[in-house]
Amino acid sequence: MELSARAQKLEPSVTLAAAAKANALKASGKDVLSLTVGEPDFTTPKNIQQAAIAAIENGKASYYTPSGGIKELKEAVVSHIESYYQLQYTPKNVIVTDGAKFALYLLFQAVLNQGDEVIIPVPYWVSYGEQVKLAEGVPVFVSCTQETDFKVSVAQLEQVKTAKTKLLILNSPSNPTGTIYSKEELRAIGEWAVANKILIVSDDIYGRLVYNGAEFTPMATISDEIRKQTMIINGVSKSYAMTGWRIGYAVGDETIIAAMNDIASQSTSNPTAVSQYAAVEALTGTQETVEQMRQAFEERLNSIYPKFAAIPGFKLEKPQGAFYLFPNIKATLDMCGYTDVTEWVTDLLEEAQVALVTGAGFGAPEHVRISYATDLKTLETAVERITAFIEKKSRN
Ligand code: PMP
Ligand code: GLU
Repeated sequence: MELSARAQKLEPSVTLAAAAKANALKASGKDVLSLTVGEPDFTTPKNIQQAAIAAIENGKASYYTPSGGIKELKEAVVSHIESYYQLQYTPKNVIVTDGAKFALYLLFQAVLNQGDEVIIPVPYWVSYGEQVKLAEGVPVFVSCTQETDFKVSVAQLEQVKTAKTKLLILNSPSNPTGTIYSKEELRAIGEWAVANKILIVSDDIYGRLVYNGAEFTPMATISDEIRKQTMIINGVSKSYAMTGWRIGYAVGDETIIAAMNDIASQSTSNPTAVSQYAAVEALTGTQETVEQMRQAFEERLNSIYPKFAAIPGFKLEKPQGAFYLFPNIKATLDMCGYTDVTEWVTDLLEEAQVALVTGAGFGAPEHVRISYATDLKTLETAVERITAFIEKKSRN
């Protein structure tokens, strides 16, 4: 049977595909170093694991929950936002979802009509454009360059704005660049969005993973007008090493949240109950482990950044947040005799057993993405292998 046009047009996630390929090679006995998927290598902290075990043993995890999440977790999200953003919301402003990825999906389904435009600064996280298309919206990509720290400006936004522009997606700290917008930059963009009645989707998922004194300012905290026009997207995957538990959330306008809830009720029913009880403990229990993991990422960044930056042809600024390096490798490609970054990434994997993600999936075909959410030894060995691969290719 012929697949839907929607399914035929869809690009699968390049990050998950790269990770799957690396894992398959590992399983076949190859010594592959995978710097692909963005997930902490730490196991979920013990107190969170224990909360999940308790929810299983006392029977709470056995049943369906409300579609938008259990009351305790919505309240935990409200208190969390109050502590970290100093903003007051109520549980009616919150929906708990199957990962932040599904919060974004529900949001697009809830607000986009066919042909509505969504502004997405490039480089972007791989799922934004595809999810917008699944909701029959039109992604409008705006190129941002390494020279401006990959930040979008109001002048650029003004250029692409049309009568159909409905949303703007901002992700600070950014996946894949690690860039963080300053308060002033956010204010300018936020005021522009308010003036043009454009809803801001603020993907804050890396907000607690910032390094070397960098500060994260959530868009919603800039002013009350901006807050009213911002949907916050966040989750427990990255800060609490809980990628496998699949818990994310959205916070914002009550009517939009209610529409998202209705769509969830007809699709997933509810996020997994046991994961919700675990997430309550994540948000309300000790936050010491979050800081310990943040420090570990900071140490790795500081140790490996100069090594990756010294790889022949790699052009790379030091990121301020998240856990990725995103070098421009155009000069490397030239040295190695390649014109296509994806081919270079494929050969690197086959010939040097190092798995990276092609920048093409992030809208940046001169770049590769390197996840440093892995141990130092693996990262250092990867630098050696990549350097040797480039030397070999340059000689040919
Ligand atoms: N936004 C960004 C920018 C991400 O990198 C990720 C990582 N998967 C997500 C959202 C979704 O995270 P999750 O679904 O695991 O909560
Ligand atoms: N966000 C992570 C990444 O960019 C997880 C993979 C995904 O959800 O696409 O690697």
